Amino acid sequence: MKVLRAKSAGFCFGVERAIGIARSCARCGSGHVYTDGPLIHNRQMMELLEGEGIKEIGDYKSEKKVDLDLSGSDKESDILVFRAHGISPERREYLKSLGLKCKDATCPDVGKIAGRIMFHVKKGYTVIIVGDPQHPEVIGLLGYAADKGFVVKSKEDIDNLPDIKGDICMVSQSTMFTDDYREIAEYFKMRFPQTVVIDTICGATKERQKDVRTLAEDGAQAIVVIGGRHSANTIKLAIMAQRTGLPCFHVETAKELDMEVLRKFSVVGVTAGASTPDFLIDEVCRRLENI
Ligand code: SF4
Repeated sequence: MKVLRAKSAGFCFGVERAIGIARSCARCGSGHVYTDGPLIHNRQMMELLEGEGIKEIGDYKSEKKVDLDLSGSDKESDILVFRAHGISPERREYLKSLGLKCKDATCPDVGKIAGRIMFHVKKGYTVIIVGDPQHPEVIGLLGYAADKGFVVKSKEDIDNLPDIKGDICMVSQSTMFTDDYREIAEYFKMRFPQTVVIDTICGATKERQKDVRTLAEDGAQAIVVIGGRHSANTIKLAIMAQRTGLPCFHVETAKELDMEVLRKFSVVGVTAGASTPDFLIDEVCRRLENI
């Protein structure tokens, strides 16, 4: 089987940076290294990091109190790392109040969205965030809008909004589809024409989405997408692969490959979410190439 591997498959710079921060804390310090919820959305990578002494505490959404007795912690040497998805200002205060040293691994692209929200809220704008209300990035961003923010995911959500007077600023979760965001924004502006729409989809997401189309154009007969089932950008890649009309297989590891079905194809495209480590991608490519 011929395997076409997408150029952008695997870690984006935000994930790479977050892992680098956590690892350097673990290598250079003498205490424990904790992350508030998953540092990134990839279970296998989080397990690997745990083996390096980086322990996940807190919950998936970074909403609940951390589930660890920190009374025995050495507050001089233990470090708490903030996740790549970012956290709300309220969560930041709470984590700082635990008294441990803190390191911020928020992706700079998410930080930029937070900055734009704060800027517009200060000027009196209402902020609309387009994205998944259950995703930690969106939960964190909404915190920057204080009581001036709404999250919408669909046209129906827009219909259900109250009347909003005054200026409105719209941003999106960093991993949105470009076309979907444009469509939602156009629909929104029919009801609220005063809205300023800001493109906050990150470059890494755009690049990965473009590369899925390239796989189809280059002759892939099916596409395998590797990545965590909680990873927003992996899920989006899988949906985008389905939209090409080709059969699509979303797997977390090579073990989940359906070899009987994949055997039917002679050219298969492989891509992976921004939080998928290379060792998982290499393993999938090896197995496919061996068919
Ligand atoms: S997908 Fe984009 S926003 Fe998310 S961590 Fe990567 S670069 Fe940052």
